[in-house]
Amino acid sequence: MQDVTLILLGAGRSSRFKLPVKKQWLWSGDAPVWLNLVSSFEKIYNFKKIVIVSSEIDILAMSKFSNHQFIVGGSTRQESLKRGLSVVDTPFVLVSDIARCCLDREMVERVIELREVGASVVPTLKPTDTLYLNSTPLNRDEVRIIQTPQLSCTTTLKRALDSTDREFTDDSSALSAVGGRVIFTEGSRDAHKLTTVDDLSRMSCLKRPSRRPLVGFGVDIHPFESGKRMYLCGVEIESPFGFKAHSDGDVAIHAVIDALLGASGIGDIGELFPDTSSRYRDIRSTELLKEVHSLLKSFGYLVGNIDITIIAERPKLMRYKRMMRFNLADILDLTPNLINIKATTSEKLGWIGRGEGVAVEAVATLYYYDWTAK
Ligand code: MG
Repeated sequence: MQDVTLILLGAGRSSRFKLPVKKQWLWSGDAPVWLNLVSSFEKIYNFKKIVIVSSEIDILAMSKFSNHQFIVGGSTRQESLKRGLSVVDTPFVLVSDIARCCLDREMVERVIELREVGASVVPTLKPTDTLYLNSTPLNRDEVRIIQTPQLSCTTTLKRALDSTDREFTDDSSALSAVGGRVIFTEGSRDAHKLTTVDDLSRMSCLKRPSRRPLVGFGVDIHPFESGKRMYLCGVEIESPFGFKAHSDGDVAIHAVIDALLGASGIGDIGELFPDTSSRYRDIRSTELLKEVHSLLKSFGYLVGNIDITIIAERPKLMRYKRMMRFNLADILDLTPNLINIKATTSEKLGWIGRGEGVAVEAVATLYYYDWTAK
C-alpha cells in the first residue's frame, strides 16, 4: 500500500559547512549527495510521492536531475516542512534532511513498519558517554539521542505545526506538544547527517567524485543597434553601434554562459535570466557571468577551460582579443591560458557578411569539485 510520502528538506543555506559547495551538492561518483539520497530511499520503500523542499535556484537545477515534486522552502526548517506537508495526501509522512548521505536500510524499514502504532516513530540511540545535567550525573538508561528520519501521522503533524509559532527542533517534539504518542525504535550509528566538513570523513557511503570532464556548447547571435555601447567578453569595443538586447548585449559572454550551463546540465541563460525580468534590463553581462560562476561553484562544479569563436565582419577585433582573455580569466578565476578567443569573418556571406550583427560560439569544460582532496 502506498500510504507514505517522503519529504526531503534542503532549503537551509549550509552555513555551518565551510566549503564553497553546498553540502547537498557534493558529488559522489556522477551524482550529487541529494540525488544519491533520493535513490537510496527509493530502493528501501515504495513511497507514494517524494517531495523535495529547497531554494528556488536549487530547484531550477535539481528539477533537471529528478522528476519528483519540488516545493520552494521557507526561511526556517519548520516553515519549509509546512510547505512540504501542503502537498502530502498520504496518512503518513517520513521526513529527512537532504544532506543525510548514508542511510541505514534496516533502521528506515523499522521506522516505517511501526507507522500504525503511534503519532510519531523516532529512531533513537543510547548515549555511550557519561552525561551530566548541570552538576548532577544522569542515568544513561533514561536518556536517548534522537535521530532522523522520523515518521509522522500527517494530520497530527500538520495540526501540531499549525497550532503554535514555536520552533521545534524535530518533528517528534512538535507532535508530543499536541499530545501525540511518540514511539521509539532503535537508531543507527551509521545514520550520519552531514553538518560540517569534519563529518565527511565518516561518510563511508560517499565515493570520490567522478573525474570525467563535462563539455558544454553555447551559441548566441545579436543584431547591431546604433546608439549603444558595444561590449564583447566584458571589454568595451570602439564602435558606432552596440547590440540590440535586453541586457548590454554582450553576445560573447552569453555564449560562454550557455556553454557553462550546457556542461553542468542545468539549462540555459534564458531560464536563469529571463528577458521579461526588469532586473536584467541593461545589466552588464559580466555581472551575469559572475552570478553563473558562483552558482556553478555552489553546485560543486569547477571550470576547466573555455574556447570562444566570434564570427563578425565588423568591427575588427584583433586588438581586443588579449584584453578579452584576461577579463574572462579574472571573472572565472582561471589562468589566462585556459581561455581562448578566436575571431573570424563569414567571408562577406549572409547577414554577418553584410555587417548586420555578430554570432559567437563557445565551448566550456567543467569538473566536479573534489572534496576528497580537502
Ligand atoms: Mg544573448
